[in-house]
Amino acid sequence: MHILCLDLEGVLIPEIWIGVAERTGIEGLRLTTRDIADYDELMQHRLGLLAEHDLKLGDIQDVIAGLEPLPGAPEFLAWARSRMQVAILSDTFYEFAGPLMAQLEQPFLLCHRLEVDDHDRIVGYRLRQKDPKRMAVRAFRDLRYRIVAAGDSFNDTSMLDEADAGFFFCAPEAISRQFPQFPPTDTYAELQQRIETAVASFELPADC
Ligand SMILES: [Mg+2]
Repeated sequence: MHILCLDLEGVLIPEIWIGVAERTGIEGLRLTTRDIADYDELMQHRLGLLAEHDLKLGDIQDVIAGLEPLPGAPEFLAWARSRMQVAILSDTFYEFAGPLMAQLEQPFLLCHRLEVDDHDRIVGYRLRQKDPKRMAVRAFRDLRYRIVAAGDSFNDTSMLDEADAGFFFCAPEAISRQFPQFPPTDTYAELQQRIETAVASFELPADC
C-alpha cells in the first residue's frame, strides 16, 4: 500500500503569493520558499507587507479566485488519484486554497490556518505543527504505507527525505543541485514515470 504525497504550489498550482504580487504590484510579495528558506521569516515579511499596504484576506482571495491550476496538473492528479491514494502536503492556508482545490476535484489537503481579525485583516498564522511535511510522511509510514513524494522547493526536502522515494518537480537548478539525492523531474510525464517505477519497486517485498 502506498501514498503519493505532493506539494501544492509550484507542482499543481502557481505560487499564490506571486499571483498576489502581480495583481497588487507589491514586489516584496514575490519572495517564496525558493528565496527564503526559513518559513517564519518569510511569513513575517509577507504579513508586514500586507499590513503596510492595508491588504485584507478578501483582497487576496479575489486574486486567488482568478488563478488556475498549472497546465496538465488536473490530468496528472486525476491519473494519480485513479491509481493510488494522494495527499497534498502544503505550507499554504485553507483560507487561500479553497477555490483551487475545487478546480482540482477536492483532493485531500493538509496545510495551515490563518489568524484573521474582525476587520478581515490577516494578523498571524497557525502552523499545524513543526516540520509538518516530514511529520505527515512519518505518520503515514507508521500506518504502514510506503510513500512517494514530489515537491519543488526547500520546504519539501524534509518530506522527500522522509519518503521511501522522493523527487523534485520543476525545482530551480540551484535548489536541486544542493540535494542531489532527489532526482529532478521537469514534466508530469517524467514524474509519472518516476512514480510508477517507485511504486513497482514497493511491490517487490510481499510484506506491504
Ligand atoms: Mg512548492
